[in-house]
Amino acid sequence: MPYVITRLCTNDGACVEVCPVACIHTRPGAPQFYIDPEVCIDCEQCEIVCPVDAIFKDVDVPPEHAEAIDVNASFFRQNKAVVGPVAFETAWQMVHRAHTYASSMGIAVTAAVVDEAGAPIVVERMDGADPRTAELAVSKAYTAAAFHVATADLAAQARQPWLRSLIVAHRGRVLPAPGGLVIFDGITIIGAIGVAGGRTADQDVLCCQAALAVLETLGH
Ligand code: SF4
Ligand code: SF4
Repeated sequence: MPYVITRLCTNDGACVEVCPVACIHTRPGAPQFYIDPEVCIDCEQCEIVCPVDAIFKDVDVPPEHAEAIDVNASFFRQNKAVVGPVAFETAWQMVHRAHTYASSMGIAVTAAVVDEAGAPIVVERMDGADPRTAELAVSKAYTAAAFHVATADLAAQARQPWLRSLIVAHRGRVLPAPGGLVIFDGITIIGAIGVAGGRTADQDVLCCQAALAVLETLGH
C-alpha cells in the first residue's frame, strides 16, 4: 500500500530528503510532489516529516483528496520514459572508466554494472583486485538498483527495522555499504553501478562517480 501526496503539498521538498528509495519526484512548474506507487515501500518516513500533513497511506486518503491516488500514479505514467536498461557498450565504458580512476589512485577494484532489476550486464575485476571484490561489487550494484538510492545512504540506516526486513527478503543480496550508485535516464532508473576494492569506502564511491561521468558524454 503506497503513500500518496495530496494537493495540500507546498512543494518544500522535505519528504524527498527522507525517502529511502527515492520515489518522490516532481518537475519544474508542477504544483506539488508525487509518490511513485510502484516503488514506495510503505515506510512512512515522508508522512512523519511533512509540515502540512499532505501525505497519506492510499487506504487512508480523505474523501476530499481521493483524486490524489490517480494524480500521483498518472505523474509517473506520463513522465517515466520507456527506456531499456543500460546498453552493454555504455556499461562497458563505465566499468573501464571506474578501472582507470582506480588505477590513478593506486588501487585495484572490481566494477559491476547491473540493469534496473539488479541483473549483471558487465562485471570486470582488475589485475590485483581481491577475488571477493567481484561478489561485493555486484551486491552493491544490486542494492542500489533494488532500493533506488546510493548505497552510502542506506549504510546509515542499516539498523532500521524496515531495512533489516528488506535485507532478509532479498536473501542476502543486499549490501548497504558505500560504493553503489543508481544510473538514471531522466527520472527513470536504467541500472546501477557497484565498485569494491578501494582501501576506503570513499575510494569505491569516487570510482562510481567517475564511471557515471560517461553518461554525460553520451547525453543522458
Ligand atoms: S512511504 Fe517511505 S518509501 Fe513511500 S514515499 Fe514515503 S518515504 Fe518514500
Ligand atoms: S514534505 Fe509535504 S509539503 Fe513538503 S514536498 Fe513533501 S508532501 Fe509536499
